[in-house]
Amino acid sequence: MTLLDGKKALIFGVANDHSIAWGIAQALHAEGATVGFSSVESLIDKRVRPLAARLGSTFVEPCDVQDDGQIHAVFDKWRDSEGELDVLVHALAFARREELDGAFVDTSRDGFALALDVSCYSLLALTRGALPLLRPGASILTLTYYGAEKVVAHYNVMGVAKAALEASVRYLAADLGPRAVRVNAISAGPIRTLAASGIAGFKSMYGSFRDVAPLRKNITIDDVGRAALFLASDLSSAVTGEVLYVDGGFNILGVPTRDE
Ligand code: NAD
Repeated sequence: MTLLDGKKALIFGVANDHSIAWGIAQALHAEGATVGFSSVESLIDKRVRPLAARLGSTFVEPCDVQDDGQIHAVFDKWRDSEGELDVLVHALAFARREELDGAFVDTSRDGFALALDVSCYSLLALTRGALPLLRPGASILTLTYYGAEKVVAHYNVMGVAKAALEASVRYLAADLGPRAVRVNAISAGPIRTLAASGIAGFKSMYGSFRDVAPLRKNITIDDVGRAALFLASDLSSAVTGEVLYVDGGFNILGVPTRDE
């Protein structure tokens, strides 16, 4: 008997095998979950379908989360193919490259709206789409970052989007708790992914992270996958509305300092 025996998970946000969503997919699959995938159309055939095949998954559907029609289409297809849903993973975000460089005060109105729409509102939209399919005990997971709480150079509008996302986790958790559906976020330390490569200065921030984080190591997608397994499974049956740090302890530091 494995932790997710008989459970069904739909995972949004795999771009390639460096994606946090891919780390989560592997961890859930290893504990018995049936996994399906949704990603933007341009990635489906070249990137996502071959990865899905490695987990024996044939459910791979395109969805741009800015389009309500595409969101409905994915959940309609899931209902036709799998019936119900136990785990929804929201591991996606977007801001224009120019908003992740320079000064926050220069964020454009439409750049702000775009970042908030894709990175935060989409959690509500996907949750609403999934709701009729969610079984009691279901778990919804999203990914956030410390830049939601403290200023991190160049994270800019994405920090604001993540703050809104974390607040949305709490409001959704309160809404859905009476239906026995849990909603949580994982706040991951820096990981080298496609999305992270768009943030100015990420490489040097990533490099110095392991010198100062209490556990003295960088975070991997497998680390996040294991925490996601906890939040997706009944091991966390009374945990909702929380942000779980998977950051080697970085967030507890007042003044990060290197060893002498
Ligand atoms: P990634 O580039 O592998 O994944 C980002 C995904 O977002 C991609 O699959 C991309 O296609 C998807 N996406 C962007 N716009 C979309 C849209 N309109 N519709 C549907 N999908 C869209 O990068 P990642 O680092 O694995 O990012 C996953 C999540 O983890 C994001 O929310 C990110 O902010 C968060 N996160 C990342 C780090 C890090 O250091 N990499 C740290 C903490 C949190």
